[in-house]
Amino acid sequence: MAKYPTLVKPGSKISLSDHDPRACEGLKKKAPEVKQRRDAALERIYQLQEMLWAEGEQSLLIVLQAMDAGGKDGTIRHVMRGLNPQGVMVSSFKAPNPTELAHDFLWRIHRRTPGRGTIGVFNRSHYEDVLVVRVKKLVAPEIWEKRYNQINEFEELLCESGTRMLKLYLHISKEEQKERLQARLDNPDKHWKFSTGDLAERKRWDDYMEAFEAMLERCSTECSPWHVIPSDRKWYRNLVVAELVRDTLEDMAPKWPDPESGLADVVIE
Ligand code: AMP
Ligand code: MG
Repeated sequence: MAKYPTLVKPGSKISLSDHDPRACEGLKKKAPEVKQRRDAALERIYQLQEMLWAEGEQSLLIVLQAMDAGGKDGTIRHVMRGLNPQGVMVSSFKAPNPTELAHDFLWRIHRRTPGRGTIGVFNRSHYEDVLVVRVKKLVAPEIWEKRYNQINEFEELLCESGTRMLKLYLHISKEEQKERLQARLDNPDKHWKFSTGDLAERKRWDDYMEAFEAMLERCSTECSPWHVIPSDRKWYRNLVVAELVRDTLEDMAPKWPDPESGLADVVIE
């Protein structure tokens, strides 16, 4: 079977109900192919990250968005585990604090973008400002409405400055979210992850889907595309994300820098 088509083509309409969160190319969790493909992708990511770091010219920014319990933390744990921590920075964005609120919505984001040679991972991002903020009416519509263009221009600036973006929306079903929230409730070791506030968000599921669709339609651009990742099955989500990260780094094609001249004649005594 062909790879699941994750890319949201710039300018296209999207209906999330057409995307099956359980899609998995007909693969089985325990199939040898799954492990082999995932391990191959992770190994190659490791090599490419070293080249990216050595080259020191470009950076990669991976953005993760999802409903609560959508798998953002798990994706970071599984897919980023093979990377050299020296070249990676993970940033999690919570509700803005007073200092952040005293600035424009991109201020806290811009200072966390990856420098040349490094990879940045955003666990939530500036997209919260057109998601939770829109759904819970935290600012007036005239304000969030303008943000789609502001985001596109900001991301264009990043792209033109050497940052490649890979934006991943982890798509889970409402039933799967229920199971995962229930599992957090049932397991004392997971209580720290459970917030009754998440139940209030769950009640607004349809509003969130509408906000996610607007985000995907209006902010998937040539330089900074969105992908919809079927995420009900964690093992498939990890496979798809690992392969996408690998393919993106491959496309960036980092190169070893030119060595000092005359290395062939060097003798270490
Ligand atoms: P968690 O990821 O479970 O730690 O939750 C972080 C919370 O911060 C979520 O409920 C987000 O919706 C919220 N959050 C993140 N960014 C913003 C923002 N810009 N405005 C309001 N709430 C936000
Ligand atoms: Mg949470």
